[in-house]
Amino acid sequence: MSDDEGAARARAVLAAAFGGPDDDPAADAAAAPGEDDVRVWAAPGRVNLIGEHTDYNAGLCLPIALPHRTYVALRPRTDSLVRLASAQAPGETWTARLEDVAPGEVAGWGSYVAGVAWALREHLVAQGADPASITGFDAAVDSSVPFGAGLSSSAALECSVAVALDDVAGLGLSASDAGRAVLAAASVRAENEIAGAPTGGMDQSAALRARAGHALLLDCRPGLDPVESAEQVPFDLDAAGLALLVVDTRAEHRLVDGQYAARRATCEDAARTLGLASLRDLADAVDASDDPAGTLAVSLDKLPDDVARRRVRHVVTEIGRVRELVALLREGRPDAVGPLMNASHASLRDDYEVSSVELDVAVDAARVAGALGARMTGGGFGGSAIALVRADQVETVADAVRAAFEREGLGAPGFLLATPSAPAERVV
Ligand code: ADP
Ligand code: MG
Repeated sequence: MSDDEGAARARAVLAAAFGGPDDDPAADAAAAPGEDDVRVWAAPGRVNLIGEHTDYNAGLCLPIALPHRTYVALRPRTDSLVRLASAQAPGETWTARLEDVAPGEVAGWGSYVAGVAWALREHLVAQGADPASITGFDAAVDSSVPFGAGLSSSAALECSVAVALDDVAGLGLSASDAGRAVLAAASVRAENEIAGAPTGGMDQSAALRARAGHALLLDCRPGLDPVESAEQVPFDLDAAGLALLVVDTRAEHRLVDGQYAARRATCEDAARTLGLASLRDLADAVDASDDPAGTLAVSLDKLPDDVARRRVRHVVTEIGRVRELVALLREGRPDAVGPLMNASHASLRDDYEVSSVELDVAVDAARVAGALGARMTGGGFGGSAIALVRADQVETVADAVRAAFEREGLGAPGFLLATPSAPAERVV
């Protein structure tokens, strides 16, 4: 979906749901600015190159923004009503008054959208500014980001709305990285507190702060200055003759709440046992050591059982792999990162135990067909895998993965190409 197409579709959904000047293109052209004007903003999905299950361990991760985007056509209102429609939720509109939006008070997909308005109002109140600059609005979305594929359609939705409301209210936050960090934080609050989904901040930072041709190195240590927490790392796939193939397993998202919570709790218990604030401290000690393996082994020996030892080993080695991969990219060697991706997958599969049959089949088939490296991406138990391939081998690798799924009796996967793309912005 091109930006023009995405914008046209979102506008059409808005007009169909709530009417307005789009009913008549001539009237639209004649509409005075500020009066019933619809504009369109977009925000990308994301894929994480490496650094999985590290965010809640104060670690490092390395997402890129996808070319796949969520488009929101939005028209501010003079009252506090929020009316929403989505091409992905056909035939239903979602309505609430802004003053009724609060934790536990709203549900459904509109909570991601109204949650952003709520969080921006909270931000303004905390700044001593007038929250009423965030008014109600009519909005409609359409998206090329697959739902629930681990590519963060939820953050794409929140962040498209965040830049839209920022623009409409004239807050100017989108204009700087520091401001975008504020919008990312508001989007995280919308997802955690209003939509009720416990996620870290990687997705929203990627959607708002990534840059085309770059990966975004995120440092998840709490309390870090938000601007210091993100660094751009050159990752120009086209120039290197490479492509990043995403395999959407289309397997039902089985990130069973219990599994995620259990991994988190094991990591937090282990850090406590080791007398550390987080496993990041151990990763840093291992990184600084003359004998990394020995330093890690001494700490692992202090843990109560094999499960805890394997979970910690994943987190510590994964943070190390992010550092190594970033170093290779900075040296201009993106074609050398494959083995790190492979090692990440093995660690997630064997030590962290969050892979799935579909993810393993995708990764193995991609490698056999010539991928330079492949790994599951996202939280696991379903979702997507990524394979780094030579640009002329994309079809060969995709065909091999498709054939392997068929052989194993799995449902057909989806494919998309992840070119590191631009962050959330106004498109019309
Ligand atoms: P993902 O990995 O895609 O982010 P999530 O479960 O976090 O999966 O978010 C998916 C949810 O986000 C959907 O169930 C829906 O509530 C909401 N959502 C995302 N994009 C859209 C959209 N274009 N229209 C309506 N709802 C959306
Ligand atoms: Mg999500």
